[in-house]
Amino acid sequence: MRIGVLAVQGNFREHEAMLRRLGAEPVEVRKPDELAGLDGLVVPGGESTTFMRLMKLYGLDEAIRTFEPPILGTCAGMIVLDRNHLGLADVEVDRNAYGRQVASFEADLRLAGDERPLRGVFIRAPRVRVTGDGVEVLAEHEGEPVLVRDGRIIVASFHPELTDDTRVHELFLDAVREALSVRA
Ligand code: GLN
Repeated sequence: MRIGVLAVQGNFREHEAMLRRLGAEPVEVRKPDELAGLDGLVVPGGESTTFMRLMKLYGLDEAIRTFEPPILGTCAGMIVLDRNHLGLADVEVDRNAYGRQVASFEADLRLAGDERPLRGVFIRAPRVRVTGDGVEVLAEHEGEPVLVRDGRIIVASFHPELTDDTRVHELFLDAVREALSVRA
């Protein structure tokens, strides 16, 4: 599996390491033509305003809008994919909405259908305010969704690439495998 990692800004290297660990081949994406032939895409954390500006500058916004394989967005990546930005995930999020004191924190999350807690690292994280009808909540923190799936799009408000736990990336790679088998 060749998985693109948007590498215009933010912590793309940690995602690459995680993908490699799981046997996928990460490909850094900085230009639209680099999306060709990829089986999936990761939009990492960083700063969403910077992402939007750079993506527009390079024409990546349109290219990602029409990219068909599964996409994983984390933190700023979740913001970039939401209703108010690229519009690929039917969620509405508030940037930096956890407040100044608790802007960055860690918490054990419950992953749907899994007994083992998942450590969530939240860094000036977006808060999910609205989820559309077709959106599946995969993990919550204090009753609010923090990991959701809208068809082939998976978005997390935390940073699964910053822990040793590979489960979120595994979920994503399962979606990639599923999409590949449908195409075949
Ligand atoms: N606060 C950042 C933003 O609004 C996101 C932070 C992150 O990705 N760690 O874009």
